[in-house]
Amino acid sequence: MGLLEGKNILIMGVRNKWSIAWGIAQAVKAQGGNPIFTYLGEREKEALIKLTADMGEVAAYACDVTRDEDIDKLFSEIKERFGVLHGLVHAIAFAKSEDLQDTFVNTSRDGFTLAMDVSVYSLLAVSRRAQELMTKGGSILTLTYGGSVRVSPGYNIMGVAKAALEASVRYMAYELGPKNIRVNAISAGPIKTMSAKGVKNFSDILEVVEQKAPLKRNITLEDLGGTAVYLLSELSSGVTSEIVYVDSGYHNMGV
Ligand code: NAP
Repeated sequence: MGLLEGKNILIMGVRNKWSIAWGIAQAVKAQGGNPIFTYLGEREKEALIKLTADMGEVAAYACDVTRDEDIDKLFSEIKERFGVLHGLVHAIAFAKSEDLQDTFVNTSRDGFTLAMDVSVYSLLAVSRRAQELMTKGGSILTLTYGGSVRVSPGYNIMGVAKAALEASVRYMAYELGPKNIRVNAISAGPIKTMSAKGVKNFSDILEVVEQKAPLKRNITLEDLGGTAVYLLSELSSGVTSEIVYVDSGYHNMGV
């Protein structure tokens, strides 16, 4: 028996084989879970179908998290087909590239609002609907980065968005706890993905972690998948409102 046998887990944020959400989806599947996917548009749908070809038949639904009507449709389709949801993985973030290239103080009003909407508000928007389907308890998981608590030059508006995301995890954990729904975040070390490419000097960040982190290496999708399985499964039944670092120990270094 896998650790997630029979559990329906909604996974949002698979773009390609490098996506953190894809690493988590593979780990979920390996533990007997039933991953349910979302994609942004038709182009992304085709890529997702190719990527999941080895998984057999998988459920996948369109959802742009800036559109309430998409989110409503997503959850009504999941309710109709699956009834119960046991887990939700929110691996979604967005910032305008110009806001990651310029100085933080120059962030535009609409760039600030868009980054907060896609990267933070979306967690509330999807969790609000997910809780209705988590009738047997549940686990909600999002992805954050250490640039939320310390300055990571170039991370800019995303650092502020991740700080708000982590605070949202704590507030939601408090509110959803009585329903036995746990809410946690993984603070991932840097890992090469499409989104990461938008961050200035990203390869320098990878090098610094490799040199300075206790494990002397960068993290992998498998590292993230393992911790995600722990947080989504009963192994972590007493754990909620936590920010769990999967960063080779880098965040605890003073120099
Ligand atoms: P990724 O593969 O590019 O995934 C980001 C996902 O967000 C994509 O699937 C993207 O969809 C989706 N997305 C953006 N806007 C959306 C919208 N309006 N509606 C629905 N989906 C939308 O990059 P990733 O690195 O795996 O990112 C996943 C999460 O991990 C993010 O929260 C990121 O901040 C976090 N994280 C990443 C790192 C890192 O170093 N990579 C470190 C710590 C935390 P499309 O591509 O189809 O637009």
